[in-house]
Amino acid sequence: MCSKVFVIFVLVPASFLVILLALNTVTSRQRQFQWDMNRKDVTSLPQLDRERIQQRAERLAKALTIQTISWERDVFETEALLQLHQHLKNSFPLIHSSPSIEVNVINGYSLLYTIHGNNNDKNDGVLPPYMLAAHLDVVPVANGTWKVADPFEGRIIDGVIYGRGALDDKSSVMGILEALEFLLENKYNFHRTFYIGFGHDEEVSGFEGAGHIAKHLKETGVSHLDFVLDEGYFVLEDLVEGVDDLVSVIGVTEKGYATLELSVEMTPGHSSIPPKETAIGVLAKAVLALETNPHPSMFGHGPEMDFFSYISSSAKIGHSVLFSNLWLLSPLLSKLLSRSPVTDAIQRTTTAVTIIQGGYKHNVIPGSASATVNHRIHPADSLDQVIEHNRRVINDPRVRIKVIDYYPPTPISPYGLDVSAFNLIASSVKQIYPSSVIAPACSPANTDLRRYVELSDHLYRITPTVLTPVTRGGIHGDDEQITIEHYHNFIRFYVALMLNADQPEAGHLTVRHHREL
Ligand SMILES: [Zn+2]
Repeated sequence: MCSKVFVIFVLVPASFLVILLALNTVTSRQRQFQWDMNRKDVTSLPQLDRERIQQRAERLAKALTIQTISWERDVFETEALLQLHQHLKNSFPLIHSSPSIEVNVINGYSLLYTIHGNNNDKNDGVLPPYMLAAHLDVVPVANGTWKVADPFEGRIIDGVIYGRGALDDKSSVMGILEALEFLLENKYNFHRTFYIGFGHDEEVSGFEGAGHIAKHLKETGVSHLDFVLDEGYFVLEDLVEGVDDLVSVIGVTEKGYATLELSVEMTPGHSSIPPKETAIGVLAKAVLALETNPHPSMFGHGPEMDFFSYISSSAKIGHSVLFSNLWLLSPLLSKLLSRSPVTDAIQRTTTAVTIIQGGYKHNVIPGSASATVNHRIHPADSLDQVIEHNRRVINDPRVRIKVIDYYPPTPISPYGLDVSAFNLIASSVKQIYPSSVIAPACSPANTDLRRYVELSDHLYRITPTVLTPVTRGGIHGDDEQITIEHYHNFIRFYVALMLNADQPEAGHLTVRHHREL
């Protein structure tokens, strides 16, 4: 009797479950996203000539010598920005003399290029314009920490270009213009109008640069862009355990940002007769409560679940079972992600206590203490929910919470095979990196795209170059670098994208495909 019960209630359901997991895994491993290969095959694109690869690398290296550092909001190197403008003019003579290209300096230091397409008949199925975005500024460097080359020397050593901005983001600025100059050399006439926007203060807010570019576009009657592509994720090597292929990650949203101040006010006094609780003690308990009670996992509410299902076909079998059966196994994957701060940040709003203040004399109990808390908000979370969580875990009305700075996560842009702008970018990536697997994700870092939210609901992020575990550390770190070979592919990507976007079928799909939040 007992064994019959075991068979009916345990063995049979367990067998069904194993078969179901196996079936899902097989189906998902066979699934290949057919990114739209009706577009011009890469072999039919004008081939970027290799013989001038060195010249192009040297032009990028020269751009890296110009110290366009953003120090803090409203504090940037204006002279250097103007020098960089001049370097662009000198490097790309066709762009800067073409009658169909307009160059506007925006708010003194940012640049907006308008490439006028020759097909402007609005009744003739002309596609709305799109924009390629990048930024001219860079972050400062720590003194004396670069080992291989000086950060502003612009050196090329053994086929590698070193310097601040090699990845973030002067390779985008120079790469986009190299691609455009190359197409102009080849007498290519664009049908579709598009914009290239280079902000000058992305590293300290983007308010003065991209913010003003967006304002200028609106003032000149541009109310809608088909899509905007900016820096962001990369074509990543060794990104996920169990996946050997390169993963081309396209950012479809980015986290929000909130800085809160916690403050406590209590009666001050002499340290010889201390009360049971002090402002510092109450604040310390609040900080401990925040650090030991992370915000809830939002796994499955943003693009992170789709990220794993997109890469499941490239994963090794054990990982593939996990990634293909997230309907059942997502709590397990969520648990695995929470083991490391890097992967945990993907799935939840993060909390970092960054400043703490209280007390001024060794024998005085202070009347107040305060702490600054920085949150990076998951796209499925909100400021109200963040504050509500904090209040609940602190559970002490004496701790006041004040919002110092906040901007929301960007909306999740639609993605998938049937979203034309996403498909256009994905298929252009596949033309250059055919063996890579495309995956959507939320970017933990912020870009100028948050300034373009009102102009387009198709905002995407990818820096089209291979990033290895070694080169990853160079972004905002030391020895920032890109190989000449990778930079060549970088430019090829923009050539492919500009040509693909100019095809009449580039906008034929309009279906939205994403989970509503
Ligand atoms: Zn950047």
